[in-house]
Amino acid sequence: MTGPGDESRSGAPVAALVVAAGRGERLGPGDPKAFRPVGGVPLLVHAVRALSAAACVRYVVVAAPADALEQTRDLLAGEHAGADLEVVAGGADRPASVRAALGAVPPGLDVVLVHDAARPLAPSSLAEAVAAAVAGGAQAVVPVLPVVDTVKQVDGDLVVATLDRRALRAVQTPQGFRRAVLERAHDEHPAGGAVEVTDDAGMVERLGIDVHVVPGHEEAFKVTRPVDLLLAELVLTSRADA
Ligand code: C5P
Repeated sequence: MTGPGDESRSGAPVAALVVAAGRGERLGPGDPKAFRPVGGVPLLVHAVRALSAAACVRYVVVAAPADALEQTRDLLAGEHAGADLEVVAGGADRPASVRAALGAVPPGLDVVLVHDAARPLAPSSLAEAVAAAVAGGAQAVVPVLPVVDTVKQVDGDLVVATLDRRALRAVQTPQGFRRAVLERAHDEHPAGGAVEVTDDAGMVERLGIDVHVVPGHEEAFKVTRPVDLLLAELVLTSRADA
């Protein structure tokens, strides 16, 4: 019998939190986003399979819609080989779902990844790279890609600034943290603050703690709109053909 801190898998033992409690309304009517299929398999199952396959990941906690806990457990049975799995009820917003999942991480796991179920095709190698950067000494790590579009700041229908895209990066998940840093960020995050919190690293930045970047992966894109499901289908087809 192995415990969550067991060293038989490689590297520092890691807990992976998967937030899957969003409705995904931008995808159109239907099941919560995490249960929508791509390649015939729900997004959440893809995400949990990939994280569990990362050699460093010992424990996966899924924050699921509160009314779908049993459904989620059934769906994920047999899909988390190599890691233990726990399913908890998510919250009203993403930070609340992360907090719920973080509260279920057992002792002995001091590196935590936070991943969106909405990024089902992020490869295991990305989780490994992020976790390795944290294990190597970073407090917080995010995978990033260059921004390809020109990005403008607007006020209503007026452009007020054009940002220099050479200094911009699009941020993905999984994001990685020392557990204590993520816990502190969530403890100190003022609920309902004026600034919309869309990722955990943003909360860590507000503590004045450095957040490091590693190269992201093109297949770690977020499924938000219907066109993203089409792209995900194509990626899976190309993987099957490879
Ligand atoms: O809505 P968005 O695509 O930004 O959500 C990002 C991730 O956060 C999704 O995986 C979604 O399921 C999750 N989420 C959550 N709980 C919420 C809202 C979003 O777990 N209340």
